[in-house]
Amino acid sequence: MEDTSLNSDLFKQPHRRYNPLTGEWILVSPHRTQRPWQGQVEKTGQEQAPAYDPNCYLCPGNPRAGANQTPKYESVYIFDNDYPALLPDTLEASFKEDGLLIARSERGLAKVICFSPRHDLTLARMETKDIRTVVDAWAEQYTTLGSLDFINHVQIFENRGAMMGASNPHPHGQIWAEEIIPNEPSKEQAAQAKYMQEHGTRLLQDYVKLELEDKSRIVVENTEWLVVVPFWAVWPFETLVMCKRPAGTIAELDSAQRDGLADILKRLTTRYDNLFEVSFPYSMGFHQSPTDGKYYPHHQLHAHFYPPLLRSATIRKFMVGYELLGNAQRDITAESSAERLRSLSEEHYTLR
Ligand SMILES: [Zn+2]
Ligand SMILES: [Zn+2]
Repeated sequence: MEDTSLNSDLFKQPHRRYNPLTGEWILVSPHRTQRPWQGQVEKTGQEQAPAYDPNCYLCPGNPRAGANQTPKYESVYIFDNDYPALLPDTLEASFKEDGLLIARSERGLAKVICFSPRHDLTLARMETKDIRTVVDAWAEQYTTLGSLDFINHVQIFENRGAMMGASNPHPHGQIWAEEIIPNEPSKEQAAQAKYMQEHGTRLLQDYVKLELEDKSRIVVENTEWLVVVPFWAVWPFETLVMCKRPAGTIAELDSAQRDGLADILKRLTTRYDNLFEVSFPYSMGFHQSPTDGKYYPHHQLHAHFYPPLLRSATIRKFMVGYELLGNAQRDITAESSAERLRSLSEEHYTLR
């Protein structure tokens, strides 16, 4: 048998790793980090935000764009994005093709979900029971939006921190529901369908088994969920949050799985914040079965976290040069990133 253990010489020199979810490769250059880990925590002078900000349009009771107003909400609040990227009533469905110039109309809806009325909280600093309320709201939105006849895919995501383009620190996420299945989930659907055809099992459930046995890439787990830095991770501290029991969507999760998801999100984001003692920026989102009425037995619910930070609170990874022109590349291995995240406390640094 091939030596696939981490002691294999292969993993000590430049090598490529394959992402079976997308069919893409990543270049890993571990020899570039032979130098000892710097690990310094830079003081970024971050001030703790106030619990209520009179200038924040997501805080309860404050005015928003146009004549809109955010009501005095007490837990989760969902509204139509005042500047939506998608609209439900575009021109009649149309398709244009002129040689190499191809376009089609796209209908959809864009929602904003405030996780908490408290301006100063984040998933890491919220109570687990309040994150559970967010999980229930995500499930409800998936079902409601997905049942609209022109909605075939519901993308739930969060951009956290100015570095990821979040326009407001108030804890909130977004939901874009649209007619087509976007590129990333579309690639992953195809790969998971092919895998099931060839193996008769779900790709991501087999991956959970493999990671539970190997253990080197595990960051945190509970009875229902497993978080790893995937073998094929691109971003330095990228993680994959996987449901252990079969489930295609958040709406399908039972109470124990939903509690488990709230727990794992809090513990993971706390570890992220503790890494550089900063409110850790990231883009995260769930991949769920499409809502086009087809059957997706191969699809397993999961979430991706893509944080940009590399070495400190201010040093980020850039996707430039070879990565734009060739393919993604990383220096620290997935295993060493997982080890660092695993070793961190689950007590948030601001609460110590
Ligand atoms: Zn606010
Ligand atoms: Zn995915």
